[in-house]
Amino acid sequence: MKTFFSFLFSLGVLFADIPTVAIITTGGTIAEKTDPKTGASIPASSGADMIESIPELKTLANYKIVDFSNIDSSQMTPQMWAHLSQVIDDTLNKPGIIGAVITHGTDTMAEASFFLELTIKTDKPVVLVGAMKNSSDPYSDGPPNLVNGVIQVCSSKDYNWGVTVTMNQYINSARNVVKTQTTNVQTFESGEKGYLGYIYNKKVYQFNNRLKKLKLPIPNELPRVDIVYDYAGSTGDFIRHAIDKKVDGIVVESVGAGNVNKDMYEAILEAIDHNIAVVITTRVPHGNVFPAYGDEGGGSSLQKAGAVVIGDLPSAKARLLLMLALPLVKNNEELYQYFRKI
Ligand code: ASP
Repeated sequence: MKTFFSFLFSLGVLFADIPTVAIITTGGTIAEKTDPKTGASIPASSGADMIESIPELKTLANYKIVDFSNIDSSQMTPQMWAHLSQVIDDTLNKPGIIGAVITHGTDTMAEASFFLELTIKTDKPVVLVGAMKNSSDPYSDGPPNLVNGVIQVCSSKDYNWGVTVTMNQYINSARNVVKTQTTNVQTFESGEKGYLGYIYNKKVYQFNNRLKKLKLPIPNELPRVDIVYDYAGSTGDFIRHAIDKKVDGIVVESVGAGNVNKDMYEAILEAIDHNIAVVITTRVPHGNVFPAYGDEGGGSSLQKAGAVVIGDLPSAKARLLLMLALPLVKNNEELYQYFRKI
């Protein structure tokens, strides 16, 4: 039976009573195997290979496979996600395709999902999945994650969750998802905001709804935005270096509720003088930044100086929002509004 089924599938025979889902592959551990010579994980599988190796997938849907790339997600760039966003829209514009599962490396999956959430135009569901254990591992989490991604797409007429990261049965919004563990299959979490839902036994259970929906156009050229990390005793040198590099924006990952030391503060003033947008985030995993403290470098002084001090986006996501919002704004107040909306 399996052979006959695979034969029909390889001929592109579509089964009318099951939906068609796009599988767009980009790489990551889910597409890797262990190289027996080195013991290292290396890119190995195409979309067709993955579907072929997971018989259950064929009972759930027909597939439109798009092999976008096969790279480790540490090599991904916002420019590549801009292209991926267009490929997703083009693919989902085709009638009959009900949604897409995107396979992606987990290292930058949270950022990828956020960029896609902000930029894709389609209303159809887009589910990012990956794996923490590659397909040489007998307990790889890739196959169940891929199956659950397809199950979510097939049942998501009941939900409008936009782009999600769905791993280890948990459904995370692109807005809130963070990678929290380097090697464990339970790595993606949504912190105090909570998961959107859970998948068990082929059924999707909803816990929450997507709260914020913000859509932004992709500019022809994405501005350059750097991230600078603050710590006790840090200097403003990296900010001054960014000014020399003529960046368009800087995200400063501050301490606490949005505070930096005096030298960082002075460097931020220089950046603002050079017309560089500065957004303050925090290295604390949960909670917002606030313009609370008035000393030189406190959140209140940073806001008075013209930095954007609002929200709880992690730095990497704040950077992506800044890259997309900067071409749309004329001043700091308009920029602030984008960070307020998300
Ligand atoms: N190195 C991998 C990546 O991000 C990790 C993974 O996929 O789990 O591409």
